Amino acid sequence: MRVLVGTTNPGKLREILAILGDIPGIEWVAPGKVPEVQEAGTTFLANAVLKARAIARATGLPTLADDSGLEVEALGGAPGVRSARFAGEPPDPAANNRKLLASLAGVRSRRARFRTAAALALPDGRVWTGEGALDGEIAPEPRGSGGFGYDPLFIPRGETRTLAELSPEEKNRLSHRRKALEALRPVLQALASGDDEELPEDPRLLG
Ligand code: IMP
Repeated sequence: MRVLVGTTNPGKLREILAILGDIPGIEWVAPGKVPEVQEAGTTFLANAVLKARAIARATGLPTLADDSGLEVEALGGAPGVRSARFAGEPPDPAANNRKLLASLAGVRSRRARFRTAAALALPDGRVWTGEGALDGEIAPEPRGSGGFGYDPLFIPRGETRTLAELSPEEKNRLSHRRKALEALRPVLQALASGDDEELPEDPRLLG
């Protein structure tokens, strides 16, 4: 079964394939371009569902979408769903990181949380979701060259290194994305084996 990964963010794409790429019977299709979807929702979950459903309908392929971002406690949860465009258009990770550090100058609490909502949609509109979070704090300056986005500024709880200083395997073991995507593994396995009876219902969306 072919499943489209509804993102053009190379960092996300790499991690999604590293986490779910081992499921037998699934051929992942990574588009060079995905249809533009307005992320009109106010939550990661709403945006993930919007993206996955719109792209699945437009392409006729089962589609996995990831909506994610960083919530900083002292900033009232910002940048949140605006994480990609915190410093404006077009999305610029280095400018986002500079703006984040400037926003926290002189601020005591540096607690933060990464969140991912993942949605898997079929062209007929059925959708399943998973969510994950990773707690940590914002480093005083960027460190490391791995990962993407805010990784050089994020120190997971219990770690001394930033996410950008971890190996890809280490990041994927503990990440928000891992937790959100693993929740969809049983659905993908059931779809790949053609076993509709085994498809779990998503109580959040169907209940
Ligand atoms: P989205 O395309 O609206 O989901 O934008 C997500 C944005 O959040 C990305 O462009 C990054 O800036 C940030 N982000 C999401 N996940 C991560 C991560 O795992 N590490 C670092 N930054 C992330």
